[in-house]
Amino acid sequence: MTERLAETIEKHWGYKEFRPLQKEAMEHLCHRRDVIVVLPTGGGKSLCFQVPAVTSSGLAVVVSPLISLMKDQVDALTECGVPAARIDSSLTPEERESAFDLIRNRQLKLLYMSPERLVSDSFIKFLHKLDLSFIAIDEAHCISMWGHDFRPEYRQLGSLRKIFPEVPIGAYTATATEQVRHDIAVQLSLKDPAMLVGSFDRPNLIYKVQAKNRIVKQVCEVVDRHRDESGIVYCIRRKDVEEMAAALTAKGLHVAPYHAGLPDEVRKRNQDDFLNENVDIIVATIAFGMGIDKSNVRYVIHAGMPKSLEHYQQESGRAGRDGLEAECCLFYSGGDYATWKSLMRDMDPKAMEIALSKLSRMYSYCTEGVCRRKAILDYFGQSLDKGQCGACDICLGEVDSMEDSLVTAQKILSCVLRLGQRFGGGYTALVLTGSRDQRILENGHDNLSTYGLLREHDSRAVHDWIEQLAGQGFLEKVGEYNVLTVTNEGRQVLKGEITPRLLCPTKKPEREHKAKVVTDSWQGVDKGLFDALRKVRATLAREKGVPAFVIFGDAALRDMARKRPSTLDRFLQVKGVGQTKAKQYGRIMIERIRAYCIERSVEMDLTVLD
Ligand code: ADP
Ligand code: ZN
Repeated sequence: MTERLAETIEKHWGYKEFRPLQKEAMEHLCHRRDVIVVLPTGGGKSLCFQVPAVTSSGLAVVVSPLISLMKDQVDALTECGVPAARIDSSLTPEERESAFDLIRNRQLKLLYMSPERLVSDSFIKFLHKLDLSFIAIDEAHCISMWGHDFRPEYRQLGSLRKIFPEVPIGAYTATATEQVRHDIAVQLSLKDPAMLVGSFDRPNLIYKVQAKNRIVKQVCEVVDRHRDESGIVYCIRRKDVEEMAAALTAKGLHVAPYHAGLPDEVRKRNQDDFLNENVDIIVATIAFGMGIDKSNVRYVIHAGMPKSLEHYQQESGRAGRDGLEAECCLFYSGGDYATWKSLMRDMDPKAMEIALSKLSRMYSYCTEGVCRRKAILDYFGQSLDKGQCGACDICLGEVDSMEDSLVTAQKILSCVLRLGQRFGGGYTALVLTGSRDQRILENGHDNLSTYGLLREHDSRAVHDWIEQLAGQGFLEKVGEYNVLTVTNEGRQVLKGEITPRLLCPTKKPEREHKAKVVTDSWQGVDKGLFDALRKVRATLAREKGVPAFVIFGDAALRDMARKRPSTLDRFLQVKGVGQTKAKQYGRIMIERIRAYCIERSVEMDLTVLD
């Protein structure tokens, strides 16, 4: 059985190995056992049901919450030579009819549809006449009110077990706490489901966090490291999206905005432009992302702090689904904290309490300065199996701890006390740096003993340390105006009993400390050829009207630019190339590779140990 599954993956997808838990997930379905699979974004959940659908007899039904998601998956399957279709409201009558024909003729392996359609009376009658291999429920957390994306229509899936008692059910999600997992099993009436929970670690993602100062410049620095590559920039509010998109456009970048305030057709067009690589960057609120399967997003920037680590994990997780390295850069400020807090004003007290505690965990994450990966995994109750991740700003040594953290912190905290704990972070920073601001002079604060104590530093840097002290619990922000007060822990700092860690960006050049994931994935790749092949891919994608990554993923293109095959047989050795794609695109890719290699006198047919 395992062999059959492995052969199928190789034949249709061109992959030579299972990712963690894929094999187990597939085998359970093949043995007709219910299964719940929790894997991080990019972990390869889709294959967990797509492959068994191919090897099993009969038709697999896949439930998915969004039309765009179904469409991408069906396109991708078709490209791999797997007979798949979807039934949804966006189909033309002809498309619908041809899908039904395929089903009646027993030619189809996977059928995608929405939950409400699946449980409609007419459809159930139709499906009862067929031989169903299993039912797969994608984004299964949507069924749970405890999750972050509850969808009432998913609740109707609770009747499936009664309607199709003999058909095994698989449920798939990237985000599930223990409670949500349990709820999924209960809601779907699963029978002793196999529970497969993968590691939430995404080793190919590089995490970086910085205090926000000149945000457009900071965003541009990240974008500059990824010329012509795809990236997402998240902002908190629509207004921020508009401003950021305009600023980046003014710098000559190819950008599209996305938020819920735009007309549907504009939103759709901008999203398609991003998927089809007509624009490199999408600037968006969190309204963007669900159902975006684009595998070659090379960076995700948060130009404002997210409201919880769950959100951060999910949004940053849209980077690097293809397993190649990608950067996740988060820029935060105390202002972001205040913005979220004010947006939560109207929540009911219980919900607000939970939301605020998540928000403050998020804020601590930004300011505490421990390995970012370790902090994220800790939050999700998993542990990092090594002491240092080697791929975050802390582990890469991109931030320095201040040598005199204790003294600096004491200066800040005593200034807060001298100010009578009645002022916010910005004002306090100005006092500490000896500003001649009108308000300070009027208040007579230039006479305080702490006035100008940190005048050798920029007030932005001082403000940032204040945020770090707040994030680490030494200061608290109180009331509507976020007035700073010193906590009990803060008083211990003043007595010299605890030393906080204050960070500042290091001046070391970038090159010295490249993460290993970056050097590894480019090992042996001819970058010029990679770019040339991207252009061919873009042309093919345009001709076919599908997103570029559906034709070949970046990982496959890099492997081509590494192995540089001259024959179809050798082309099939490339990771991510199955038979259907080799047949369709092999010749044209090989032609381009040959032309490039001859022109540059680059060797072809390299033997690479995988
Ligand atoms: P998820 O749904 O868990 O976010 P996907 O199913 O979209 O992840 O898979 C992410 C990417 O990884 C896709 O490009 C997919 O083709 C690729 N992938 C999946 N399984 C494997 C595998 N065994 N080997 C190599 N690549 C894989
Ligand atoms: Zn780290």
